[in-house]
Amino acid sequence: MTELIQNHSNDFADKLALINQRIARACRKSGRESRHITLIAVSKTQPWSKIVAAYQAGQRHFGENYLQDAQPKIVQSSSMGIEWHFIGKIQANKTRAIATHFNWVHTLDRIKIAQRLNDQRPVHLPPLRVFIQVNLSREANKAGIDLIELSDLVTQMQQLPRLQLQGLMCIPMATRKFDTQIKPFQQLQQAQERLQTNYSHLQQLSMGMSADLEAAIVAGATHIRIGTDLFGARN
Ligand SMILES: *Cc1c(COP(=O)(O)O)cnc(C)c1O
Repeated sequence: MTELIQNHSNDFADKLALINQRIARACRKSGRESRHITLIAVSKTQPWSKIVAAYQAGQRHFGENYLQDAQPKIVQSSSMGIEWHFIGKIQANKTRAIATHFNWVHTLDRIKIAQRLNDQRPVHLPPLRVFIQVNLSREANKAGIDLIELSDLVTQMQQLPRLQLQGLMCIPMATRKFDTQIKPFQQLQQAQERLQTNYSHLQQLSMGMSADLEAAIVAGATHIRIGTDLFGARN
């Protein structure tokens, strides 16, 4: 009997090559450059062995949704130079751990959490890089701040020197057609452009997942968050 040997490493490298092709194609289509797109490998629920395989394939940015799941991986990777992105729902009692372990937070949507992250960011670390998550579809159960409240939050955040605001993030409803996918991404891009009249340093847009990265890139994404199409389906 032959034993099935899983080779995480080649598997990831193949999938990474495909994603890079998709990024390159979307960039050509929109006159952008691939080097302006940061690929975040979303490793939530994935075991350490898969992170190592991804790392060996050259991946350096990883995204996690659940603190308990992420913490041991981050500790284990401390000498590897990985940038860790928190992309999950932020509970107030988890802000200290998030501010301590992560380099980036993508899901900030209220001032109270911003204040806690600011106050709890360890002094020996550089400011925490953050995105504000915007709820474009205004679904009641969805995370993110309403567009109408956005500029107030940005203004208040000017008082928080331990946070370095990068730009906006969204998770639109999943749809299959490119023309439908791109609408909310363009809405986020326009919101960002309006903010830039007063805050010209807000240059980053975190948007696009496995199913809609092309539409996100055409609409100006700078950070795409890919799980399924890099690691396979989650358990
Ligand atoms: C899980 C997750 C992703 C990755 O989604 P895929 O469809 O698996 O690529 C991206 N962003 C956030 C916020 C997520 O929770």
